[in-house]
Amino acid sequence: MLDSKLHEYDAVIVGAGGAGLMAALYASTGGARVAVVSKLYPTRSHTGAALGGIGAALGNLEEDDPLWHAYDTVKGGDYLTDQNAAQVLAENAVDAVVELEHMGLPFDRTSAGRISQRRFGGHTRNFGESPVRRACHSADRTGHMILQTLYQQCIKQEVAFFDEFYVVDLVMNGETVGGCVALELGSGDWHIFHAKATLFATGGWGRVWSFTSNAHSLTGDGAALPLRRGLPLQDMEFYQFHPTGLYGLGVLLTEGIRGEGGVLLNGQGERFMERYAPTIKDLASRDVVSRAIYLELRDGKGVRGRDYVHLDVRPSTVNRHLAEAGEERRIDEAYIIQNLAETLDTCRTYVGVDPLKEPMPVRPTAHYAMGGIPTNLCAEVTRDAAHTVVPGFFAAGEVACVSCHGANRLGTNSLVDLIVFGRLGGKRIAEVCAGSDLPPIAKDAAAEAQAAFAQLRASQGNSRPGELRQRLQETMMQNVGVFRTAETMQQALDELAELRDRYEKDLHIDDRGQRFNSDVMEAWELGCLLDLAEATARSALARRESRGAHSREDFPERDDQNWLVHSLISRDGDQLTLRHDKAVDFSLWEEEKARGIAEDEQHFKPRPRVY
Ligand SMILES: Cc1cc2nc3c(=O)[nH]c(=O)nc-3n(C[C@H](O)[C@H](O)[C@H](O)COP(=O)(O)OP(=O)(O)OC[C@H]3O[C@@H](n4cnc5c(N)ncnc54)[C@H](O)[C@@H]3O)c2cc1C
Repeated sequence: MLDSKLHEYDAVIVGAGGAGLMAALYASTGGARVAVVSKLYPTRSHTGAALGGIGAALGNLEEDDPLWHAYDTVKGGDYLTDQNAAQVLAENAVDAVVELEHMGLPFDRTSAGRISQRRFGGHTRNFGESPVRRACHSADRTGHMILQTLYQQCIKQEVAFFDEFYVVDLVMNGETVGGCVALELGSGDWHIFHAKATLFATGGWGRVWSFTSNAHSLTGDGAALPLRRGLPLQDMEFYQFHPTGLYGLGVLLTEGIRGEGGVLLNGQGERFMERYAPTIKDLASRDVVSRAIYLELRDGKGVRGRDYVHLDVRPSTVNRHLAEAGEERRIDEAYIIQNLAETLDTCRTYVGVDPLKEPMPVRPTAHYAMGGIPTNLCAEVTRDAAHTVVPGFFAAGEVACVSCHGANRLGTNSLVDLIVFGRLGGKRIAEVCAGSDLPPIAKDAAAEAQAAFAQLRASQGNSRPGELRQRLQETMMQNVGVFRTAETMQQALDELAELRDRYEKDLHIDDRGQRFNSDVMEAWELGCLLDLAEATARSALARRESRGAHSREDFPERDDQNWLVHSLISRDGDQLTLRHDKAVDFSLWEEEKARGIAEDEQHFKPRPRVY
């Protein structure tokens, strides 16, 4: 056994994005001694890339109500959303946003000095009647502002930060979590964080797919670790593809562009969303718009015969459509420059397109994990359909699945999720820590992880991690993407099995050193990607219906009779096993009503594959 440094805290928070920082802030103001462990420098977390806004029914520009927000969240989630979670999300969003404002977050303002709000996909007034301005924003760099604001607050609160530390294992004592094991990038030293409460806020796993909006670091480590320790992951089949990734790169172009009046056009210059969602058009929910783009591309209606469509936010186009819709509002170049500054910069820098003068080339990009570590409303991790709590273990943010997003997340609801459930988790941690002692843990808690790394570092086969990762991403993009069939998913699973075999027996590592060994760390992250890709494909293959982001061409209908239920996948030895016995919460609207209101334009069937 190698030496490892032991740190004792009341609470250890893994991840320094919005969820981790909010949880750290609340746990520490509640009296707990808190450490935040993060593989990135905190302000590099992906939350900083969030653009368009954070949803809250403030009603600053148009009448709004948290209940309408909850309804949109349930409907957007294709009824798999736990309604109690949607209610908590929507109700808490209002004062969470005001709290951020009071912490100093520089939101954009209305002329009356209140927080400005813009439209976003699926945000409606009065239960779907018409679009509403609900997204609070700070230009198109809202996430950046949230992250900076929360980081400052944590520093003020004297939270201890361990930056560029990779958490590589959970410390468990029977069923209880007693902390985590981390590897320090700069030195290669081992650390054990022993704590009464451990909260995972490690973000998503967009890097499972080849075309993604997600940062390089989003490899889902925090979801893979509990899976390896026998805990379940929930609803893994539901992964969101955002309709507007910048062609060729996957970099995200915010839904705020369409919120400001931007429209999608196919290669024939047609505003095709009018055919797919006649009422809400370009602002239909993301799964609907992503599928529509795919279908246009399949019909050969891409721009110049290529696999992208156009997103047009030129003032002349926007004003024409606003006039057609009978709206009084008009925009000009100065308005776009002020409200979509990041978008202009991204397009000009990366693809040489100036959105003020020409339309932007876009196609769907892998974006957001609705599934993850199951939790209750206080961010406590649960292990089964009966919501049994795993003592000492918490999760919040994208890695968690409190199921406020169901089968498909609405735009701006992730930032709300981070703030609301990060805060509730932090509060609960403070309570738990006040009334308990450190749980006993084994002295050699790091031994298993150390052995695994020793093996990884010594790998002398022929397969380079980069090559295996690329194949994994390509097969997932092609076979477990926007549209899926049993055949394609099985093909992905077969390829994943082969890649895992090569990963375990034939890996090649160049750098065997201890300090800043990113070669080994990326190889380790690849192991997490493999686990998550398999969990996703297996969960998707088992769900024989189409719902939200999970769209099967061989089962194109939503099947509420058999599948209005969560899935739980867990590892049993070498096998992944699935259960479908966890009920959806229907405490706001009864099941029958939820089913009835779903039968509208938003739920259209994918057409059969034509190639
Ligand atoms: C380009 C883009 C734009 C977006 N725009 C919006 C938007 O406008 N509105 C909205 O609501 N949502 C948006 N989203 C989604 C939203 O930003 C994310 O879901 C959210 O920020 C995730 O936050 P998080 O706190 O869960 O994790 P992240 O912010 O991703 O942070 C993860 C943290 O975990 C740490 N970590 C990970 N693995 C380890 C490990 N093994 N050991 C130690 N630390 C680890 C990382 O260092 C990091 O600090 C956007 C997402 C993207 C990619």
